[in-house]
Amino acid sequence: MSTVMTEKMNAQQIMEMEDKYGAHNYHPLPVVLSKGEGVFVWDVDGKRYYDFLSAYSAVNQGHCHPKILDALVEQSKTLALTSRAFHNDVLGRYEKYVTEYFGFDKVLPMNTGAEAVETAIKLTRKWAYNKKGIPENMAKIVVCENNFHGRTTTIVSFSNDPDGYGDYGPFTPGFIRIPYDDADALAEALKDPHVAGFLVEPIQGEAGVYVPCDSYLPKCKKLCEENNVLFIADEVQTGIARTGRMLACDHVNVKPDILILGKAISGGMYPVSAVLANDEIMMVIKPGQHGSTFGGNPVAARVAVAALDVIKDEKLAERAEKLGNILREELRAIKSDMITKVRGKGLLNAIVIKPKNSKEAWDVCLKMAENGLLAKPTHGDIIRFAPPLVITEEQLHECVDIIRRSIEEFA
Ligand code: PMP
Repeated sequence: MSTVMTEKMNAQQIMEMEDKYGAHNYHPLPVVLSKGEGVFVWDVDGKRYYDFLSAYSAVNQGHCHPKILDALVEQSKTLALTSRAFHNDVLGRYEKYVTEYFGFDKVLPMNTGAEAVETAIKLTRKWAYNKKGIPENMAKIVVCENNFHGRTTTIVSFSNDPDGYGDYGPFTPGFIRIPYDDADALAEALKDPHVAGFLVEPIQGEAGVYVPCDSYLPKCKKLCEENNVLFIADEVQTGIARTGRMLACDHVNVKPDILILGKAISGGMYPVSAVLANDEIMMVIKPGQHGSTFGGNPVAARVAVAALDVIKDEKLAERAEKLGNILREELRAIKSDMITKVRGKGLLNAIVIKPKNSKEAWDVCLKMAENGLLAKPTHGDIIRFAPPLVITEEQLHECVDIIRRSIEEFA
């Protein structure tokens, strides 16, 4: 092995190396991790932390889950990649499994969340022209304020976060942005006959875990049905048991026309994403009209089946529901004027921090790290709490203790 991989280095040296040779497109907490297992990660000095980010909800099944790891290793040793130029003996099995699991006719496999969102956008546009009869190049997709759907040029075209879109123009047209959690705004937007789809996060994760009112998604779904508009749910972050149901849409019995999944569909073991839809939608894409070299590769397929098995075998949705209620209750009981809000569903939660003595959410995260729990601020004042769903009740209480102690240190 090249010596760069074996040379002994301390945390500071590793961070300096990243800083020198890597693009500065992230601002990580100053922690260098080298091992993970279940709810825990360890840094290079052997210090153990609870992981309260779970790689943005990719590691719902816990770090290095043995069943998912076995699938990865076994399949990697057998056949890793064929491209879709040929069939492989795993893809079809995965496709049957995942479509039955979520109740759709077909799946289109991709790798990252952003690619799956792009796929859903292309699918919606093609459906608009081939099925709905919208004139060429006129199709529009309605999206929400403060959305986060990924980082591609088209996706940032409809973001209203200046960090997301700034200086990346010219932007892709064809999107209408309306306020989130406002079904009346959708009703208004759908008066435009060229609208083909409504793309929505059932809970806005990156924006800071904004949970809409219970009637929002059902109302939106009904409006879409009435106007022959596709309801597209981006469950990349909220899906796969994170919010206490298999899908966040399941809380309100809404079935999307197009379902977008990523992250935890592989338990964070491998980049796997998926777009699910029924035949009348999915079959508008014909051979050669969309694809990806790695999408649906045998390793991804095998890993995803294992990861989805684990969700059901270990009843992780039920666990997320139960422990989420306990977590929010305990967070609300913390007496500190620094916590101004606690919100979330299942184990996708956030607290809003009011700075005190010029100590902000970032400082709280540094303090929590010192005390053995990793979380990351978003938008300056929000801290997301999203541990792996395999966390036990006892561990959760210990985590709340760490959070309480950390905040109290600023009192
Ligand atoms: N959609 C949502 C709702 C997300 O939260 C994210 C990632 N945070 C994405 C899409 C993009 O996923 P990826 O980073 O895998 O491209």
